[in-house]
Amino acid sequence: MSSSHRFTVLLTATIGLGLSATLVATTAVASAPAAHGSPGVHSLGDRLFPTLGNGGYDVQDYDLSLRYRPDRTTMAASVTIRALSTQALSSFSLDSVAQRITGVRVDGRAVPFRLDPAQEKLIVTARIPDRRLFDVRIDYVADRSQNPAPPGTTLPPGVDWPIEAWVKTPDGFATFGQPNRAHQFFPSNDYPSDKARYTVRLTVPSDRTAVSAGRLLAKYRHHGETTWIYRTDHPIKPDVLPIAVGRFREIEQTGPHGLPVRSYVTLEKAPNGQTLTEPMELNARQTPAQLAWLEQQIGRPFPYESYGVVGLASAYNGVALETATLSTFGGQLAAPPEDEAPTLVHEMAHQYFGDAVAVRTWDDMWLSEGHARYYERKYAGERGFIDYTAELKTLYERDQSLRDEQGPAGRLKNPGSVLFDTDAPGQLMLVGLNHLVGDATFRTIERTFYDRYRDGVASTADYVAIANQLSGRDLTPYFDAWLYSPITPPMPGHPDWHSTKKA
Ligand SMILES: [Zn+2]
Repeated sequence: MSSSHRFTVLLTATIGLGLSATLVATTAVASAPAAHGSPGVHSLGDRLFPTLGNGGYDVQDYDLSLRYRPDRTTMAASVTIRALSTQALSSFSLDSVAQRITGVRVDGRAVPFRLDPAQEKLIVTARIPDRRLFDVRIDYVADRSQNPAPPGTTLPPGVDWPIEAWVKTPDGFATFGQPNRAHQFFPSNDYPSDKARYTVRLTVPSDRTAVSAGRLLAKYRHHGETTWIYRTDHPIKPDVLPIAVGRFREIEQTGPHGLPVRSYVTLEKAPNGQTLTEPMELNARQTPAQLAWLEQQIGRPFPYESYGVVGLASAYNGVALETATLSTFGGQLAAPPEDEAPTLVHEMAHQYFGDAVAVRTWDDMWLSEGHARYYERKYAGERGFIDYTAELKTLYERDQSLRDEQGPAGRLKNPGSVLFDTDAPGQLMLVGLNHLVGDATFRTIERTFYDRYRDGVASTADYVAIANQLSGRDLTPYFDAWLYSPITPPMPGHPDWHSTKKA
């Protein structure tokens, strides 16, 4: 994720009211005899998002169908989830909100289900033996007009939840699921550590284009509608599944090693009448050159089977999201290249760090945002878009204030800031690490971490262990100070820099 400053202020000011201290994970207690199975837990115990995630199974595959009609916000939908049980189950839950569930089948049999709206859960009753692959098909109606505030957040009267999950555009919509909204799109195990492969089937009017992750497997027309079927080669986490529908110009290019690069830019104009298509295309066409730069930095080929960007005619301008294989941008993609190129590199870097290597918990989010910002600012500095060292110094000087307001990056005070307040501290910490261990070791740490956890998930401890091993030093206190201390630690290489509380 990246955002404009204005958006960040709005968001943190609004969500900063915070998570109620009384919120605790509601974890179902396993009480039934093991022979008959017991309920899967209704939470994975995340500190920032205590209701998120579900236990007792591991999703292997989602097969999602959505039918978009321009004259209504509701969409007939279904998802078939193939999962592997990790215990004998008597029931299990999925994250689900703002959906009208019309039926649930397990291995083809209709089964009882109920909703817990407060916890955003769909609870399914079915007996499943341990270590068994099973299919759950859920038929439902999704509603793009619904944008409920997640559990545990409190907002002032009259203030709407500021994050749009379903992004509205004049010609369609797009999905922004991060951090905890993918289960508005489809019932799922909406947690970054449960990655799965996806088949996405989008039925839209034939004058629209529908895009999603991975390869286009098939496309067929029937009675004025077209169904587009996409499939991913790699497992990805639910919150970065891209789905977008609109009137797009398609731009085909080739990246390093023959990587297919396919981008989509809106044919609509901005609300102020500005043409978006050509300026967006100018930015999108930088993708192969930026991929080559990033591959050279990280020393590894792009993680996925294809890449590209989608540019929306959205008033939701300031944000971009690292949706896997196809990053999603608002109207900002029409900004001048010197402004937008670093953000393009940011979302591209997330494909390695954040997507291919996903975070184990939301407290590990610096692994994603810190790396994305590290490569983004390095690129901006090398291209002469910024004074790299001067910007770093300013960032460092502000760190103590950020820490006071939002908490350290590894122990944030409120969940809303997970997308916005982990990137700068993460970048500073990585720049400092680079200084401490030198360029060659730093690059080896990055490559080793990527190689070991690619297509999986990793925690802060996993990164620290690799840094310690490859540097031959105990850097744990260094990481602990940056991630968990209330006080900004010294900046390696810059003993004259200071970060103090705001007056
Ligand atoms: Zn980001």
